[in-house]
Amino acid sequence: MAPDRRVIEAIEKSIRKSPEVTSFHKLKARYSGNRLFVDVHLRFDPAKSIDETHALGHRVKVQIIEDSPIVEEVNIHLEPEPALGGYIQDDKTRKA
Ligand SMILES: [Zn+2]
Repeated sequence: MAPDRRVIEAIEKSIRKSPEVTSFHKLKARYSGNRLFVDVHLRFDPAKSIDETHALGHRVKVQIIEDSPIVEEVNIHLEPEPALGGYIQDDKTRKA
């Protein structure tokens, strides 16, 4: 069963609460039983430290779970924002 569009929109809204996230993509959510498992790629200013970016990623995860209690787990992939000079490696096999 694919998640309802409103569920996805609620997750997008949670992500947008963090202005430090410059963009995001590959937002995927799937049910296991009646719990939702979320994956998303978040992009940040590459000038930020790994410490800071990692902490911000955790904050987004907590925000998503707070806003959508159906969410069991959030896997976040942190990336440097190409629009701000970040380099995204092209691994040939799948889109960054
Ligand atoms: Zn990506």
